[in-house]
Amino acid sequence: MSNRREFFKKSFLLGLSATGSALFSQKQLETLEAVGAYAGEQFVLPALPYSYSALEPFIDEPTMKLHHGKHHQAYVDKLNAALTTYKGEKTLDSLVKNALLLDAAIRNNAGGHYNHSLFWQSLRPNPTSTDNQPETLVMAAITKQFGSFAAFKTEFTKKATSVFGSGWCWLISKAGQLEIVTSANQDNPLMLEATANTRIILALDVWEHAYYLKYQNQRPQYITAWWNLVNWSFAEMQFQK
Ligand code: MN
Repeated sequence: MSNRREFFKKSFLLGLSATGSALFSQKQLETLEAVGAYAGEQFVLPALPYSYSALEPFIDEPTMKLHHGKHHQAYVDKLNAALTTYKGEKTLDSLVKNALLLDAAIRNNAGGHYNHSLFWQSLRPNPTSTDNQPETLVMAAITKQFGSFAAFKTEFTKKATSVFGSGWCWLISKAGQLEIVTSANQDNPLMLEATANTRIILALDVWEHAYYLKYQNQRPQYITAWWNLVNWSFAEMQFQK
């Protein structure tokens, strides 16, 4: 635990001065599942792997402070509260897998905690904002499934834009086959349609709280900006799992 904390602390400090690539070592990416784990008897808010201002100008600092510090924190707090009388296995993986059978408060807040932990990891600072493309294996899978990266972006953008109300858009793989799916509220594909081989490759939060301060009601503008920040190294790692 102390090693991980030291690592995040170091990453955060690096984020203030170093290039984006320094922020995403393999070691850090491997901590994704771990960030949802217990510290003692409570779930805790994971540190961001970059500073609140690191995603500017595409996602602004006030939005990041509110989204991580208030919204994600609230999911963590409400999950801990909802679990006080819960007798089952209190791991995030177990709660997510069994979410449809659990109380709404557990389902919604376990989903909120899981989804946001994943979302922060699936973004990376991109000061140059040009040519942000998938890496080798994901690019090959996208080309095979959708014809081209451009065609995939069009399809993903269309589905993300059309989520009604609050929800998420996902790129998932099932035994190596890619699919774009959406979910409402804080549900995710691991709750709704998981097989043993289902992996989340990319997560896009399209709740208004993710973009309203900067983009108001213009969700498509937020999605256009988000493409600059997609952490394709993370996607590649998820795909290879
Ligand atoms: Mn959110």
